[in-house]
Parts: sequence; C-alpha cells; structure tokens
Amino acid sequence: MVVDTIFFDLDDTLVLTSDHDKPSFAAACALAKERKPAIDDVAMLAAFKKRFSATPWDPDYKVEVAQWRANLWNEAMQEQGLADPDVALEIQNCFDQTRMGIFTWVEGVPEMIAQLKAANYKMCIITNGHHKVQHDKLDACKAADIFEHIIVGGDEVLEGNPEKPAASIFLKACQMVRCTPENAIHVGDSLSSDIQGAINASLAGSVWVNRKNAEAPEAPVPTYTVQVVTELPEVLAKLRGKSKVQLAMVVVVAVLFLVKFRLSEGLWTPHFSRRQKKPSPFRG
Ligand SMILES: [Mg+2]
Repeated sequence: MVVDTIFFDLDDTLVLTSDHDKPSFAAACALAKERKPAIDDVAMLAAFKKRFSATPWDPDYKVEVAQWRANLWNEAMQEQGLADPDVALEIQNCFDQTRMGIFTWVEGVPEMIAQLKAANYKMCIITNGHHKVQHDKLDACKAADIFEHIIVGGDEVLEGNPEKPAASIFLKACQMVRCTPENAIHVGDSLSSDIQGAINASLAGSVWVNRKNAEAPEAPVPTYTVQVVTELPEVLAKLRGKSKVQLAMVVVVAVLFLVKFRLSEGLWTPHFSRRQKKPSPFRG
C-alpha cells in the first residue's frame, strides 16, 4: 500500500473554526448590547446557540442563510421582549464579518501543503456544511491558492448527494485527483464524519485530529491520531516505513515460493546435490 493522496477536512482541522467563533460571538454580543442596552447578551447568545444547533439554516433552502440566522437572533431577542429584525440582521452580519476577517490557516499549514505538493502528494479538501457558508470560509482563507481540488458537502446536497461520512463524496474526490481509495487517507477532527467516512469509503486509513486529547473511542477507530494537522508529515513517514516493510515481506515470500516451486518441479537442483550425483573418478 502506497499512500500518495491526502484528503483534508476544513473546519477545526486546517482552520481552527471554533477558536474564530469565540471573538465573533463576542463582537456580535457587544453590538447587541450597544443597540439594545437592556438586553442580557449572555442569555441571548445561549438562546441563539440552542436554535442554531437545531436548525443552522433553512432546511428547504428558501431563506438565505444570513437572513435565516438573523431570524434566530431575533427569536433569541424576542425571549426578552426585545425583538428587532433590523438589529438582528446587523448582529448576524457583524458575526460573519468578524469571523471572515480572522478566518485563517492553522500556523504552518500553507508551508506543509507546499512540501506535500513538492513530494508529489495529491490533495483535496472535503468539507461539510452549508454551501454558501463553506464557500465564504474557503474564500476567506484563500483555499484555492494552495488547494487544486475542493469538494463542498453543501454543493453535494444541492445536487441530491449525501456529504461526509458517505462513501460517495470520498469516491468523487478519488475520481477528481485520479487515485484509488486504497492509496488515499483522510485527515479530520470529526469521528462521525471524517474517520467513519474514511472507513465507509475503504480508504487506506484515517488521521484523527484530536486537539483536546479526547479519549479514544471504541469505534470508529482512526488509523493514526495527531493533536494538530501539521504533525501529518510524521504520520506519512511512518506510513512510508510501513509500506517498505510490506514490500520487503512480499519479495521474501515471492522468493521462497519460487524456490519451493522449482524444487518441487525438479527444475532446480541445489549445487550440493549435483556434486553428490556426479560419479566419483575413484570408483570402479
Ligand atoms: Mg471538522
């Protein structure tokens, strides 16, 4: 098994999205407090997050995603009798602008991708999420500058296809970069989407980005675990070592098989046997 292809998740793998969310929510709350001084912004944020977790965008795709989220802010404000659709939209725009303004790679990612490219690895980002939100994130970190291939799960959904962990999205990536699943690995932070997805697609393996040192699960089992994505070159070095050992074992087994076959067919007589069969000049 030679791994020559790497698929990457985006959020909390190549970019620490959760970290960027915190200051963005803080800016959104500060704006809410400015516009509505009476508001309990902590309670408003909790009410927003509860609604967001349940339905982060319009399941019917009729309401534009920023407006949908503005409506969630408005409902959260309404819990305190302070509904204001215009302010709610302002709050959502503030969140988006703050987050996109700071949305950047984990330190060392562009350099690592350049090194992997120089070492002839084929690569593709496979990211789940709402199509517009994910494309905005990819634009913000200028993903197309360093990745030739990108698949957005939300685009798949619009075409009627499932996103991660379905095997189909990984097989699409294989077609895109021209590799076979057994030559590819997937790197991501989500056990249910990334690690399970690699298993579903029968990839060569998976690398779990376990940033917070969470306890390893019983299933799905990642092939390798790292704390930060930039540890990937060490994993690839291990994989190269493993494939060299596998190749050496295949060669040894093939040689042993050939020797056994030739001996059993009488096609090859070991040197010492021939000497024994040779008539002795001192006989008779
Ligand atoms: Mg992720």
